Amino acid sequence: MFNFSYSNKTQIHFGEQQIAQISKEIPKSAKVLVTYGGGSIKSNGIYQQVQSALSEHTWFEFSGIEPNPSLETLSKALTIVEQEQIDYILAVGGGSVADGSKFIAAAAHFDGEPWDILSKTAPVKSAIPLGVILTLPATGSESNSFAVVSKKETNEKLAFGSEHVHPRFAILDPSVMSSLPERQLTNGIVDAFVHVMEQYLTYPVNAKIQDRFSEGILMTLLEDGVTLTKDRNDKGARANIMWSATQALNGLIGSGVPQDWSTHGIGHQITALYGLDHAQTLAIVLPRMMSIMRAEKQAKLLQYGERVLAIEPSQFNGDIDKTIDAIIEKTENFFQQVNMKTRFSEYQLTSDVIDPIIESLTNLKMTKMGENQSVTIDKVREILTNSL
Ligand code: NAP
Ligand code: FE
Repeated sequence: MFNFSYSNKTQIHFGEQQIAQISKEIPKSAKVLVTYGGGSIKSNGIYQQVQSALSEHTWFEFSGIEPNPSLETLSKALTIVEQEQIDYILAVGGGSVADGSKFIAAAAHFDGEPWDILSKTAPVKSAIPLGVILTLPATGSESNSFAVVSKKETNEKLAFGSEHVHPRFAILDPSVMSSLPERQLTNGIVDAFVHVMEQYLTYPVNAKIQDRFSEGILMTLLEDGVTLTKDRNDKGARANIMWSATQALNGLIGSGVPQDWSTHGIGHQITALYGLDHAQTLAIVLPRMMSIMRAEKQAKLLQYGERVLAIEPSQFNGDIDKTIDAIIEKTENFFQQVNMKTRFSEYQLTSDVIDPIIESLTNLKMTKMGENQSVTIDKVREILTNSL
């Protein structure tokens, strides 16, 4: 296991009726900005719960944070932050609202051009404190330090991380999932699954405990992802999926192990260029990433196959390649079982997409990705070609 430093300072309130906890979590003296997206929280009653919980607070609101939040939209919130002297942000939504709010929180205290935080990895030295009411289990953003923001003007989608934007608290009430459109439920299950894979499917470093945490999350997502896709009202599956998505990307399973993140790196550029949802891009790239990088990832691929999918070389007369093919096929089948597409062609995208994606990655200097820096541009081309 590698050395690591780990802490996760997000206070989690998990379960039904927990939204009321925000009245205790946010200081009464604070001037709060409630941030949200396109209005789903108004039709499913979450907004009304926030209103009553904040009845003794002074608060303002900023709506319209779109999926894949943009610099252009988020910059507008900064005017309100300044005018109203906001000193606490409450993000109510999915990963986009959480990420967008993290950017607002950091940009408000940033001396200079806020986009530099992403494009030049300019250090974030402080930020407005932030809490999250999660409405879509997927990203883990509710208890991690990361945010992904897009710049529409240049078709860029970039990430930043800072302890200063790590949420102080997060409310995880699985009942909010009842209003999720099927597409978003699917996205959440797949995004969480790929988050685990980015931290697990690398090379062994004898981190047995992290491996088993990861395998437990993968098995839960596989089982309850399918259960929930069949029965949207299965409360047990909802709770397990919500907690799995948080655990998938809150620092724990990634501590002391190598990390990949090349599927996300490629996926972000596909979203920026072609507008596919974040998780849709991951389900296209991951199976081909597993295949093209099979030599380097062989030990962990086989471990994943045996422990998570019950697929072993002995079932293929010891043929490793055939075993790995079966492991990849079963993973892709899982995506399909939760109603996720896994090919560009299913979105009417052709080989025309390859060059622009490669160009974006090259411009961003993302030409050597992965745990060994061996996902080169040539490999990316192969992965994309095989994903058509
Ligand atoms: P999202 O973009 O936050 O939300 C997608 C859609 O779902 C929105 O239209 C939203 O509507 C709707 N929605 C959310 N909760 C709902 C509910 N309970 N009922 C009905 N509709 C609901 O989706 P996401 O997958 O959570 O976030 C994706 C973003 O996170 C991407 O930009 C991705 O790159 C990023 N990401 C971040 C991290 C990280 O660590 N920070 C990790 C992976 C990905 P409203 O607009 O009305 O809310
Ligand atoms: Fe993701």
